[in-house]
Amino acid sequence: RLYNEVIELKGNIRVFCRCRPLNQYEIANGSTSIVDFDSSQENELQIICSDSPRKQFKFDHVFRPEDNQEAVFVQTSPIVTSVLDGYNVCIFAYGQTGTGKTFTMEGTPENRGVNYRTLEELFRISNERSSIMRYELLVSMLEVYNEKIIDLLVENSNQPAKKLEIKQSAEGTQEVPGLVEAHVYGTEEVWELLKSGSRVRSVGSTNANELSSRSHCLLRVTVKGENLINGQRTKSHLWLVDLAGSERVGKIEVEGERLKESQFINKSLSALGDVISALASKTSHVPYRNSKLTHMLQSSLGGDCKTLMFVQISPNAEDLGETLCSLNFASRVR
Ligand code: ADP
Ligand code: MG
Repeated sequence: RLYNEVIELKGNIRVFCRCRPLNQYEIANGSTSIVDFDSSQENELQIICSDSPRKQFKFDHVFRPEDNQEAVFVQTSPIVTSVLDGYNVCIFAYGQTGTGKTFTMEGTPENRGVNYRTLEELFRISNERSSIMRYELLVSMLEVYNEKIIDLLVENSNQPAKKLEIKQSAEGTQEVPGLVEAHVYGTEEVWELLKSGSRVRSVGSTNANELSSRSHCLLRVTVKGENLINGQRTKSHLWLVDLAGSERVGKIEVEGERLKESQFINKSLSALGDVISALASKTSHVPYRNSKLTHMLQSSLGGDCKTLMFVQISPNAEDLGETLCSLNFASRVR
């Protein structure tokens, strides 16, 4: 397949940047955009700083405020569907709270995101290949909050969330014993499942948005494939990860529970950055064990696994500091 060959040639780590539009509130407040796009360059953006020269950043692709969910999926689809060819794949959405991480991954009922579109595409291709391949798709959904792993697909959302641990299997891969794996057969069922996972996520929190910005949400699709001609079997994972907000919190306002949360977030996001930059620079030691997030994803990061990072940014001048932090984080992993 042409698509996968193209990806191979370009290496296994890709970084896309997506800039959201100014929202109504910002427009009403007279906010201005500091992000500029060159009409002829699809993979470049510039940050306009009032007191310094323009700063230029390059990515594998840049999505502009007017680019819709479909445009994003066109670029993402070849990477996610390679899970059907036996590749392990990880997709991350990184960025400050409010920049569209959840919009990109989950989306809304009217503008469905990467997660739903991916499953739809996996079902479509597996049907197309049904004379030569038999596929089984299983979905798990979990959350990492304060270095604790919580299953989001518990049968009954009134039950307390189940805590999970990472174990190494006999084959040396990282497993999460006890994690619910739901067989899925069609897209509407998947949408309901994703919704129920999101509901469990917000249980126990007075403000769902607040909590979701402080935890990592992971959707795992397990693909079991059987080649009907030669009997060869494969099993691979696709992880779709909506990361905790990357914003730094002011020193003064933070204490107690909030301080602990932000230390855990900093730790896991910098551990993720360390792992991806070690992989990108082909360093022999990759520090997977420094956080639950990277440890759990160890078997799906590195080797011939495919990694895609969406760096989400805001165009608002007021977010300049955080935007530069996110863009610099992205240059580190590239
Ligand atoms: P995050 O998950 O990073 O905190 P959200 O995904 O919740 O951010 O996005 C914040 C708000 O901005 C939401 O109301 C979302 O629908 C909207 N939004 C984000 N990105 C876009 C986009 N590209 N186009 C239109 N609306 C967007
Ligand atoms: Mg979010």
